Amino acid sequence: MSKIRNLKQSAQNVWEASYFGNYGEYNIKIALDEQLTLKEYSCSCPSDRSPCKHIFFVLDEIKIKKDALNNEADKNADAVSAVLQNVSHDELRKFIIDQAKFSEELTRSIQLNFSDKLQKKSGENIYSDILRQEFASIEIYDDQDKYYDQDEYYDHVIDLDFLEQWGKKAAKLAKQGKFLDAEAICKACIEEFASWISGKGNEMEEYINYDFQKDFFDLLKTMSKNGQTDKRALYNYCQSEIEKKKYEGLEIFDYFNDLMAEFAADIDPVGFLALQTSLLEKSKNTSSLSAKRISRRLVKFYDATNQKDKAEKLIDENLQIDEFCKRAVDKHIAGGNYGAAKEILNKKLKMCSEWTASEWKERLLEIAQKENDAASIRKLSFEFLQNEFNKQYFAIYKSAFPNDKLETAFEDLYKYYAKTSNILILKFYAAELLQYENKIERLIEYLDKCRSLELMEKYYEYIYQKSPEKASDLFKKAMDYYAKNNLGREYYEYIAKTLKIVQKTPGGIELANNIISEYRATYKNRKAMMEILTQNF
Ligand SMILES: [Zn+2]
Repeated sequence: MSKIRNLKQSAQNVWEASYFGNYGEYNIKIALDEQLTLKEYSCSCPSDRSPCKHIFFVLDEIKIKKDALNNEADKNADAVSAVLQNVSHDELRKFIIDQAKFSEELTRSIQLNFSDKLQKKSGENIYSDILRQEFASIEIYDDQDKYYDQDEYYDHVIDLDFLEQWGKKAAKLAKQGKFLDAEAICKACIEEFASWISGKGNEMEEYINYDFQKDFFDLLKTMSKNGQTDKRALYNYCQSEIEKKKYEGLEIFDYFNDLMAEFAADIDPVGFLALQTSLLEKSKNTSSLSAKRISRRLVKFYDATNQKDKAEKLIDENLQIDEFCKRAVDKHIAGGNYGAAKEILNKKLKMCSEWTASEWKERLLEIAQKENDAASIRKLSFEFLQNEFNKQYFAIYKSAFPNDKLETAFEDLYKYYAKTSNILILKFYAAELLQYENKIERLIEYLDKCRSLELMEKYYEYIYQKSPEKASDLFKKAMDYYAKNNLGREYYEYIAKTLKIVQKTPGGIELANNIISEYRATYKNRKAMMEILTQNF
């Protein structure tokens, strides 16, 4: 029985469905383009994958049912259209109002679609009331712990999808030139969200998706940059909002400050500088994350007001911020001040995680090349090559040796790959290096020594071109070794897979057939292997 229920098209090419999975019911939303490729999707399941498998299940279902459902939708539209032809405007209006009385969904939908047509008094934000009602009607499960254990996925426990819809509406109105409405929607969504969440206490945080908030600030920023809203008024608005207690501890507080930083230089340089400086003082002991954001704002401000020295001073004091570090290093490199750049980079390398180290090492290598510092080039490029065989780094590595030392340089690297090897990936690098250096004999020797079916899967064809007999011999040895030492269905599947690959190459058909008939005799007691061979050949 299908686990997908209630598949429906909620708008043109937007689909919704429920899926009954291991952890309960998931809500799935999919937006497609005309070719039925995924544009946007969401699923409330606990999976870390994006898209998760449910998206593909529903997508398959859409492909099967699309035509039937579309037909139905067209039929509905035709039927309603036929009836409405003879219904007067007043009758229709009365009907909708009656329906909306008892349908929150219809009410919200009409508000979302038509509120911009309302007459507005100046200074009044009609969207505030609407959003307040939206937030008030959010259902909060009283037994959150139950959800917590089951799902480990908090984003969708509290459904704030309506914010996304209002975000889209605001963007659409801005496109149509209705900037006042777009701005009012953004403000209402930001303010009412903060009012609602600040009454809830900290434990709510993990159940809520905050991402929507940034969209509203981004739209305000874009409109003000394009001259579609009054910058000064917006700046003053931000300034008065951040005074309010409800933004305390929320990321929105930073968003307001970031927005102010966009035009502080023109509007209120003195006040902005004082505000950020005092925030920086306060945050020094509390949160380095917020201190980082303030420092970024200040640098942006100094750049905009041509206070280069102050920007650089702040950057030098905060080299723990990656983008500052990059900027300082760039400055020193551009000025030919390599020593200072190296000092910063070496300090950074001591502090940073292994993940990010390569970024800084790359800059060191760049400097070493500029300085013709052969020893450093060798050391750094060798470190990169240890992680991965890469032609570019290999070329750099070789460039740091005189001709008569090239062979030793090669051997050092080869030894590193070949000797450490019960790690398969290093075996691959050893083989790649031999192939790259065109050392065919050594490669054959190495493959013979490794007896790795994985390696032979990759190199069979290459060796075949150089020496067909050797290729068959090496492949057979590797395959025999693999078959002898691995028991289990997954291994047999891999044997079948590699045999098929070899079958496709010239000369491979006979080789594969010989191996198959040999194994049918040798391993006739391995039931699963016999099954898999029969299935595949
Ligand atoms: Zn899912």
